Amino acid sequence: KVSVECRNIRLSYDRTEVLKNISLTVEPGEFFALLGPSGSGKSTLLRLIAGFNQQNSGELLVDGQNIGSVPPHKRNIGMVFQSYALWPHMTVWDNVAFGLVERKVRGAELKARVAGALELVGLSQYAKRYPNELSGGQQQRVALARTIVIEPQVLLLDEPLSNLDRNLRVQMRQELLSLQRRLGITTIFVTHDQEEAMTTADRMAVMDQGVVQQVGSPSNLFDFP
Ligand code: ADP
Ligand code: ADP
Repeated sequence: KVSVECRNIRLSYDRTEVLKNISLTVEPGEFFALLGPSGSGKSTLLRLIAGFNQQNSGELLVDGQNIGSVPPHKRNIGMVFQSYALWPHMTVWDNVAFGLVERKVRGAELKARVAGALELVGLSQYAKRYPNELSGGQQQRVALARTIVIEPQVLLLDEPLSNLDRNLRVQMRQELLSLQRRLGITTIFVTHDQEEAMTTADRMAVMDQGVVQQVGSPSNLFDFP
């Protein structure tokens, strides 16, 4: 289990500073929520941790190592996007296998890992289906399986439940949390839903306009808007 530490991170798009001196430590194995209104910089920070955005200054450490100059595919970090971004022309099995094939995993190991990931998310019997034959919740599980099959040290989730209806969202929240607990992966979860953060997170950061306003466990945070 690894920690993720942001030290005095600043990032600007053009001349607008979107992350303003962010300092934040996520402890090994934590389920950590980034909560804040739309436009507060949550996704930007997540993409920065994944390596898709580069900070203008400050440091990013994973497991105590500065990974600022490590390209995204060399970081041991998995990210699930809001849109899931599944390949429509590939079966569930092939979607989940894709990242392993890219990493030259083949044969029996490939099969075992894909099967294991599908089992973890309860989709073993859907391996031969295509994404458009699945419900929103099932697609969300495929996206999760495709990411955890890589066995990342850090899991980044960018509003992964926002496309689901309310009942399913509440159910998937619990599934996600129990999966995270079983795997013990340090997880950073972006949401603008206060209740979602409060009911799942070990700790959370409240962001607004590129600033971390508060960090704490759901029970010891001050009131926030
Ligand atoms: P959140 O995830 O909290 O909704 P974002 O990180 O997506 O916030 O966006 C933070 C701010 O950065 C917003 O004002 C947004 O308009 C701006 N922004 C995000 N991505 C880009 C980009 N690629 N180019 C320019 N501005 C961007
Ligand atoms: P080969 O080794 O001949 O290439 P595989 O058995 O590895 O064939 O896979 C052929 C296709 O069958 C894959 O692309 C995948 O879509 C599907 N597949 C493989 N194993 C499973 C499985 N356990 N469950 C569902 N589909 C599978």
